[in-house]
Amino acid sequence: MDAEQLRENAHKMVDFIADYYKSIENFPVLSQVQPGYLHKLIPDCAPNHPESLQTVLDDIQAKILPGVTHWQSPNYFAYYPSNSSVAGFLGEMLSAGLNIVGFSWITSPAATELEMIVLDWLGKLLKLPSDFLSTGEGGGVIQGTASEAVLVVLLAARDKALKRVGKNALEKLVVYSSDQTHSALQKACQIGGIHPESFRVLKTDCSTNYSLSPDLLAESVSRDLAAGLIPFFLCATVGTTSSTAVDPLPALGKIAKSSGMWFHVDAAYAGSACICPEYRQYIDGVEEADSFNMNAHKWLLTNFDCSALWVKDRNALIQSLSTNPEFLKNKASQANMVVDYKDWQIPLGRRFRSLKLWMVLRLYGLENLQCYIRNHIQLAKHFEELVGQDSRFEVVTPRIFSLVCFHLVPPGNEEDYGNKLNHDLLDAVNSTGKIFISHTVLSGKYILRFAVGAPLTEERHVNAAWKVLQDEASALLARDSV
Ligand code: PLP
Repeated sequence: MDAEQLRENAHKMVDFIADYYKSIENFPVLSQVQPGYLHKLIPDCAPNHPESLQTVLDDIQAKILPGVTHWQSPNYFAYYPSNSSVAGFLGEMLSAGLNIVGFSWITSPAATELEMIVLDWLGKLLKLPSDFLSTGEGGGVIQGTASEAVLVVLLAARDKALKRVGKNALEKLVVYSSDQTHSALQKACQIGGIHPESFRVLKTDCSTNYSLSPDLLAESVSRDLAAGLIPFFLCATVGTTSSTAVDPLPALGKIAKSSGMWFHVDAAYAGSACICPEYRQYIDGVEEADSFNMNAHKWLLTNFDCSALWVKDRNALIQSLSTNPEFLKNKASQANMVVDYKDWQIPLGRRFRSLKLWMVLRLYGLENLQCYIRNHIQLAKHFEELVGQDSRFEVVTPRIFSLVCFHLVPPGNEEDYGNKLNHDLLDAVNSTGKIFISHTVLSGKYILRFAVGAPLTEERHVNAAWKVLQDEASALLARDSV
């Protein structure tokens, strides 16, 4: 690494990225390329001789950006947005600059200790119970994604249960969730050796706004206990992926506790909103949980990836995931004086991700972060009002945070036609390149999702998006009435 070369080239790269952000609205939000497009544009082999940075930047402009879907565009309303900010970007840059691999405390004491401190900070902003903080038996850790978070706690819960009931009882262990739980849990079960028949996916419907019913859970647990099975893991969600449903944590937590289950709360998207006092109520009951997860990269201005996981019993994670090979032994670890995050996650190597979260928390401060969240929720409310003013459309689930689930009501209310109509509407609006939204299916109905959460989105973007939706809807209805 030549420091002067870095200075010169990094300035060029920062200029390139700043120009990108300046012109981001000029790109179609959803990439319009066809599969395989890049093979036609890029040579089959790496070059024998060095090329200039400018040549590569020209290629990025001409060949890569057309194949990028612009997640940071203010017109991005799909899935759940993934945030960036100057603070997050600077932290990411510093992490790349230091380029440490902080698997054990000794490999960079600051990386481990800052992560513990920053997750304690964030835990306190969320008013998590003190048993989740590093001062007790628990603590926080940054995982890459919510999927990794649920996997590591499922493995910890599995091994804790097997220790209690005997190693050969794996096929008796049962996992519970709702049909709205993210598929990350299914993947965790697949990896964790949980038999598909031992994974209870409990039905939800519009009567509970797609939240998990404690009565259904209690019945299912009783049935399994009577059959000699062992309930061991319950995953509740605060802010489901399809429609931001909120599972009733207090009642679910009670059932989990009385049947000896590990209770995990997935608040990947909505967790960020809980730094605002008026939204904290949605994680009431987290006191009963064994683990809690939220993605700071989704809605807390921290560049991907940064998934914060807290556990009450860090030893459960460590017992399940630790290894102690000779080549990693060192005085601090052997003396049990330090946290070695390698034992809280799947990989060995880990980046210095706490830097970017630390930068975000410090350069914004709680009050600005709360304003940021409230502004998005206000914009979503505004969109919901616009939908409500056009009788051709309907909001289909109550909006809680910054996601609006809605659809174009089919003339005659015919469901199959309605599903096709909304599918076509989604394709039509995304093909314009002006906005990008996504969909889900609830109770058999094809639903459009409008998720506000990109940092650059303002009211004018929401208004323009609504106009695109209205115009495309008019065109489709005219097509079908011919
Ligand atoms: N859980 C919820 C509620 C989500 O909405 C998502 C993704 O949107 C996930 C889990 C998976 O997130 P990740 O990509 O961090 O694994």
